[in-house]
Amino acid sequence: MTPRRSLPCKNAPAGSPRGMTLGNMREVGVQRLIASCLNDACQHTALIDVSSYPAETEVPYFRSRVVCAK
Ligand SMILES: [Zn+2]
Repeated sequence: MTPRRSLPCKNAPAGSPRGMTLGNMREVGVQRLIASCLNDACQHTALIDVSSYPAETEVPYFRSRVVCAK
């Protein structure tokens, strides 16, 4: 049996969420992010205006920065 190794796929779609930046989002006309609370019982969502952040800011950055204000 040959052990399987996972290799990074060169054919991965360009729009994969991992490398998504604000610049990518602006190209498609998106100026704001919707953040939703990690607490399922809360369901609070907030719009974040990201127009003042640099284009190279990665979208996942906001996941750890945004805190539920409810
Ligand atoms: Zn919440």
